[in-house]
Amino acid sequence: MDINDRKKLVTILIPAYNEHEVIALLYERLTRLMDEQLNYDFEILFVNDGSKDDTLELIKTLRQNDDRINYVNLSRNYGKEIAMIAGFDYLKGDCLVIIDADLQDPPELIPEMLKYWEEGYDDVYAKRKSRKGESFIKKLTSWGFYRTLQSMTNIEIQKDTGDFRLLDRRCVEAIKKMRESQRYTKGLYSWIGYKKKEILYDRDPRAAGKTKWNYRKLVNLSIDGITSFTTSPLRWAAIAGILTSLCGFIYMLVIIFKTLIFGADVSGYASMMVVILFLRRNSACIPWTYWRIPR
Ligand code: UDP
Ligand code: MG
Repeated sequence: MDINDRKKLVTILIPAYNEHEVIALLYERLTRLMDEQLNYDFEILFVNDGSKDDTLELIKTLRQNDDRINYVNLSRNYGKEIAMIAGFDYLKGDCLVIIDADLQDPPELIPEMLKYWEEGYDDVYAKRKSRKGESFIKKLTSWGFYRTLQSMTNIEIQKDTGDFRLLDRRCVEAIKKMRESQRYTKGLYSWIGYKKKEILYDRDPRAAGKTKWNYRKLVNLSIDGITSFTTSPLRWAAIAGILTSLCGFIYMLVIIFKTLIFGADVSGYASMMVVILFLRRNSACIPWTYWRIPR
């Protein structure tokens, strides 16, 4: 067979942390999909993110009977962002589809993604029309976060979109070059550019098990998202620093001239205020110094 005649290989990347309750169900849904898609070869790449249950053993058992399954086993729980980049490093596919283990991202959407990929799109991302089984607060904070991030940058952020997407190999290679440890991968998909296509879907509730997210993780991810993606907060801090330092400097001059012309009301007050205002001025200038570092 000519090398050009080989079927394209699609990697399905699944970060998994304590997901033993859903692995069998997930495998069943994926096999159904793979059996229908005869024009492609598939690789299922699990990244076991330091699970404390028997997720890894279940993956190993599946692999004994199905050589399409591969896995990366992380030495501890690093979080989904790192688990994903570990998967990026090892996947073999011509394209990649990232899905959550808990079947919140329906694998049945993958054929539609493949269709757009064949049409020439590099990043086919699934946007949530609805999110069943998630709390009002989670939906509200997620809504607010995407809008806040967008207001701080000129690069278009895909709103209400998770990691569920198909990426062409060249997107994978671009993302692999970015090795920061405090990652916000959803920002990186936007950052790398390439031809994007949106498809809409209803996000299902978890098939089984519990969410691994809590508000502490969500707040941390939001902060990483904003600070790793845009220097806008630093710029605002610099502007606020310059303005307060200017006010402090003017007030310092006022105190000096008032004391020289009218004399001191309380002894020591003027000199103490001048020292405080002078030091405050220097510290307020610190963000300004960072701002000037070439980006
Ligand atoms: N996950 C992971 N490491 C973690 C937390 C989560 O690999 O530390 C995986 C998890 O197994 C699932 C996906 O990331 O496949 C999404 O996690 P989860 O469903 O808990 O998040 P939610 O959908 O509630 O935002
Ligand atoms: Mg989930």
